Amino acid sequence: ETNLVYARSLIRTIQDYPQPGVAFRDITPLLGDGKALRAVAHGLLDQASTSFDVVAGIEARGFIFAGAVAAIADTGMLPIRKAGKLPVPAHQISYDKEYGPDTLEVSPELKPGMRVLLIDDILATGGTLKAGADLIELAGAQVAGVGVVMELEGLGGRRVMPQTQALFTM
Ligand code: IMP
Repeated sequence: ETNLVYARSLIRTIQDYPQPGVAFRDITPLLGDGKALRAVAHGLLDQASTSFDVVAGIEARGFIFAGAVAAIADTGMLPIRKAGKLPVPAHQISYDKEYGPDTLEVSPELKPGMRVLLIDDILATGGTLKAGADLIELAGAQVAGVGVVMELEGLGGRRVMPQTQALFTM
């Protein structure tokens, strides 16, 4: 689809950010373009192969795409936040990141039995999405699908989250 090809072309690669040796994928130019943002939102919705009740996004860039998908899917959006940001946290999960542990939380709007489409911007090692999926299950809800804008190859994320559907692979 031509608009998705166009959207992909707007992802900027910054060498040696945030540290030497890292090629950082920057989606800011894609977000700033209406046609590209719309194509990505529809792409994420179209690739979801099952029905869902709500779209969950992981802080912070996952919020943007989850909100866009929820708006066109006619569902609610559920923020999965870093610890300490939600006034009413209902469930939390800790996981190991590159530089130490991190914690994610959800609010009580995530109800047992809900079918959740889980969205983030990038699948890298898979640790973040795995924590998000585990948190959804901890709340007694179901992960109906997992979608990302891009998958970074060679970092092992697909082994950790094999059900992930990616719009782009880089
Ligand atoms: P993972 O937990 O290693 O899969 O990393 C995924 C998380 O790190 C996502 O929430 C991304 O937002 C972030 N991330 C990893 N690599 C990049 C990048 O190149 N650009 C922007 N965000 C990244």
